[in-house]
Amino acid sequence: MQKFDCVIVGFGPVGALLSLFLSRLQLKVAIIDKNVDIYPLPRAIHFDQEVMRIFQMIGLNEKVSEISRVGTRGMHFVDDNYNTLMEREGSPEIGDQGWPKSWYFHQPDLEKVLRKEVKKNKNITPFLGYQVISVDQSSETVSIKGKGKKSQEVLRLIGSILIGCDGANSIVANYISNEHINYGFEEKYLVIDVKVDNRFKKIKKLPDYTVQKCSSKRPVTRCYISKKRRRWEIKILSTDVENEMKKEKQIWRFLSEWIDKKCAVIERAEIYTFKSKISKKWIKDRVIIAGDSAHLSPPFLGQGMCAGMRDVSSLSWRLKSILSGKFRLSPLLAYQNERLSHVSEFIQLAVDCGKIMSDPDIILKSNKKDKGELFDFPRPKLATQLNSECQLSGNLFPQFLEKGVRTDDKLGYRFVLICLKKIEPIFNEAKNKSIHTIVATGQIKDWISGFNKIALLVRPDKYILGSAINNKELSRLLKDFSHFESN
Ligand SMILES: Cc1cc2nc3c(=O)[nH]c(=O)nc-3n(C[C@H](O)[C@H](O)[C@H](O)COP(=O)(O)OP(=O)(O)OC[C@H]3O[C@@H](n4cnc5c(N)ncnc54)[C@H](O)[C@@H]3O)c2cc1C
Repeated sequence: MQKFDCVIVGFGPVGALLSLFLSRLQLKVAIIDKNVDIYPLPRAIHFDQEVMRIFQMIGLNEKVSEISRVGTRGMHFVDDNYNTLMEREGSPEIGDQGWPKSWYFHQPDLEKVLRKEVKKNKNITPFLGYQVISVDQSSETVSIKGKGKKSQEVLRLIGSILIGCDGANSIVANYISNEHINYGFEEKYLVIDVKVDNRFKKIKKLPDYTVQKCSSKRPVTRCYISKKRRRWEIKILSTDVENEMKKEKQIWRFLSEWIDKKCAVIERAEIYTFKSKISKKWIKDRVIIAGDSAHLSPPFLGQGMCAGMRDVSSLSWRLKSILSGKFRLSPLLAYQNERLSHVSEFIQLAVDCGKIMSDPDIILKSNKKDKGELFDFPRPKLATQLNSECQLSGNLFPQFLEKGVRTDDKLGYRFVLICLKKIEPIFNEAKNKSIHTIVATGQIKDWISGFNKIALLVRPDKYILGSAINNKELSRLLKDFSHFESN
């Protein structure tokens, strides 16, 4: 039986990205999926600046930007008469994460980029066409049993850690627990992707931003994915006959308000039940979950996959530390707790947006009466930090662009101590703890000085772990880091 450091169940975007992170950390990874091909139906089209920063952490930013476009005009919630109720602004400008704040893409294109990287990577062994049917573990190892979809051949793999990235109906999540926090939103939408011909006036007239038409009659979302592809999401009402809704004739009847068969072709259409829930437990000893297997969000903010990508950057350095014997298993609990509360804020906002879609009066009845109210994604502060009294700890460290170079490229995916000046004994102590040291220059120096700090300790996923205002605090920070490691 083959033995791996990490066994990942699910080769969707989250499992694929996780395998790349772990392989870059020199871990031996197996990744299993019941399907050989990429999921073909319409799903994610948007990710945010923090997610582009995560792609950058493993050197994929260029490849991902080649298949994506920057969202410059945002997302507009409007009423039946197209009055703007609220708006998330778009912008071509670079945000504090070092990238424009919104990106649009076609999920299969992104998955192709990820799979191509996986293929080049000797540390990753894919097993495609095997459905995992059981998960087991001992005090030292985990094991899975898979059944070949075509051949019925049995696959058995052993690893030190197993990560379930197996999506909405996860066998791994069920193995851990079947308890969920439910956010009370469950609605059906017909999602249609359309390929368009831009030479036609009707296509030219379509907006270059996302329109969320909030309506007590029938909510409809319209998205500008790329020049050649558009999306419509139409709420299924209790009076609708689902099978009828998916028929081409009916789809064209819906779309006829905007486009017709002369200027567009239906690429794919599916009815989804948008759910809003988070697993209460993400870990059982050596078995962990990430992505949709841990949390499901209605897609009104375009954040479901983004949350999974954040799981990956938060989990990978922890797994490396545990497997190299530096951390004990318990820091995984911090992964669960910090990710659960973070994703919960996004899901809560997505649920609120979903409710407004069907009942725009919610806005009018609330104190948000100003038309066109601006809103943005939440920025939850993480609880996992060293000196909690510091206003910076638990927040994302910004990224700057200096002379065409992004500052994260100097930091790398590792713990970094950034000091205003070199302090020999501190730098030596940091090195002993495998913390990379840097003397701050340019905008990083200005930013740290602006908070009257002399040093910052930044996690591999770019969250600030702690800071110091003087040498005494700096020594304490490093001492606390040892405690953090063994906790
Ligand atoms: C209409 C719609 C629009 C969306 N829009 C956005 C958006 O704009 N932005 C965004 O961030 N998110 C969006 N999402 C959410 C996003 O698509 C998902 O969050 C994302 O695909 C989850 O990735 P994953 O890798 O966790 O799971 P999946 O992509 O579901 O991958 C799970 C994999 O596990 C495999 N698997 C399952 N069970 C087993 C088993 N027993 N054995 C072996 N393999 C198994 C499956 O075959 C699959 O390949 C949208 C979703 C929908 C439905």
